[in-house]
Amino acid sequence: MGIVHEERTQEPEEPEENGYSTETHLIYGRMDDPRWDYSHHLLPPISSSATYRLDSAQRGAQGFTEFAHSSPEVTVTSKAPIYIYDRLGEPNKDMLEENLAYAERGDIAVSFASGMAAIAGVLGILTGSGSDIVADRLLYGCTYSLLTNWYPRLKIPTSFVDFSSLEEVARAVTRHTRVLYMESPVNPTLRLTDLRAVAAMVKELNAARDPEDRIFTVVDSTFATPFCQRPITLGIDFVVHSLTKGIGGFGTDIGGVVVGPQWSKDMLMLYRKDFGGVLSPKSAWPVLVQGLPSLAVRMRQMQESAMQVAEFLTRRPEIESVRYPGLPSFPQAELARRQMVDYEGGFAPGAMIYFVMKGTSPTDSLKRAECFINHVARHAYCVTLAVSLGNIRTLIEHPGSMTHSAIPAEDQIAKGLDPGGIRLSIGLERPEDIIRDLCISLERM
Ligand SMILES: *Cc1c(COP(=O)(O)O)cnc(C)c1O
Repeated sequence: MGIVHEERTQEPEEPEENGYSTETHLIYGRMDDPRWDYSHHLLPPISSSATYRLDSAQRGAQGFTEFAHSSPEVTVTSKAPIYIYDRLGEPNKDMLEENLAYAERGDIAVSFASGMAAIAGVLGILTGSGSDIVADRLLYGCTYSLLTNWYPRLKIPTSFVDFSSLEEVARAVTRHTRVLYMESPVNPTLRLTDLRAVAAMVKELNAARDPEDRIFTVVDSTFATPFCQRPITLGIDFVVHSLTKGIGGFGTDIGGVVVGPQWSKDMLMLYRKDFGGVLSPKSAWPVLVQGLPSLAVRMRQMQESAMQVAEFLTRRPEIESVRYPGLPSFPQAELARRQMVDYEGGFAPGAMIYFVMKGTSPTDSLKRAECFINHVARHAYCVTLAVSLGNIRTLIEHPGSMTHSAIPAEDQIAKGLDPGGIRLSIGLERPEDIIRDLCISLERM
C-alpha cells in the first residue's frame, strides 16, 4: 500500500533555532510566554474576560496608543501587551496567531470569527470601491457569493477565470486589479494552481506598477492545511484558512485566519476591531491546544488512508473518475509533487477526494450520486453525510446541491463541477472500515 509520507520529494525545511523539528515546535510553541504567566499550567488556560483591568488612566491611554501601531522594531512578543478589551486582543488568540504564522511561514497571523470573516478581512484591507479582483472560476460557495452578491454593491467587481491558464489570468488583470484570489487545491474538484508561477507573474506585473497600485495574491489553503503546503514560501502574499476545517480538526468550533506580511498586521487588527468578527477565546483555545498540535499526526494518518480509499474508488465500476493529488492518474500529478510537501520534504497530497458517479447523462449521474449518498447517510457507520471537512470523522457531501449551491446549476458544469461529483473528506478511522462502508453503499446501487 502506498505509504505516501515516507516518500520524500523535497529536502526537509530548516530545523528550528533550538534544533527541534517544526512538528515538535507546533506542539509546544514557545517554552515561556512574556504575555501571560501560566508557568504552573501544562497548557495555557482558557482566557475568559471580555474586558481587562487597567492599573491607571495612563496605562489605558498607552494601551490604546499602542493598539495596531506596531512597527517592525516593537513586535508583540518583545513586551507584555496591554490588554484592553477582547475585541482588540487577548492572550489565547495572540498565542494561536503566533503559532499559525509559524506553521504557515508567514510574518504575522490575525484570527477571525470564521473562515468567511477572514476572507472578508483580507479582501477588506486590500480593496476599496474602484478596485477589482481577479478570482478563480471555481471557489468555495460562500466566497463566490461574497464576490458576486456583496462586493458589487461596494463597486468592487470580480472577473472569474481559470487559474490553470496564466495567460487567461494576465488577460483579466486591469489597471485597477488589486487582488488575485484562488484556492489550491480548489474546493471541491481539487484542481491545483501553480502558486510559484502565479507569484512570479504578479512580481513581473508589479514591477511596472506604482507601489500603491500593486497586485496582491491571496490563497485559500484550507484544503491543504499548512502541513501539506506553505504558499508564502512559494511567493504568495496572503494565506487564508477556515480553522473550522483541517487545522481545528475536531469540528468543535468555527474560526478563520489570515497569514501575511508584517505591514498588514495593523490593518487586519483595525479591520477586525471595527467590523467586529473576532474569534472567541473559547474557540481559539481548542485550536491552540488540540488542533494545531495534532495537525501533523492527523494529516499523515489521514492522507495515508485517503490514498487507500482513492485507490479503492478507482477500481469501482460505478465510478467514472477519481481525483486525488496522490494518485499517479491525477491530471496535475507533477505539480502536486512539487507543491504539496510537508515540513520534512515528504509528498503530502492531503485528505480530500473528489469522484464522479458514472451515468448515461449528467442527470443520470446526479441521480446516482444522490442515491449513493442517501444510502451512505442511512446505513454507513463511519462515513457521515455532512458539510465541512478536515474532520477526524470521514464526511461525504454533494457539492452541486450543498456547499456550492450558491453557484447556479447551469454554471456549475462550465466551472468544472460535475452534477454527479461527490466530495469525500477522509478522517481518522481505519481505512478498511471507510472502504467497507463505501463498498456496501456502492453495491446496493
Ligand atoms: C469552509 C470553507 C471556508 C469558510 O470557512 P468558515 O469557517 O465556514 O467560515 C472557506 N474556504 C474553504 C475552502 C472552505 O472549505
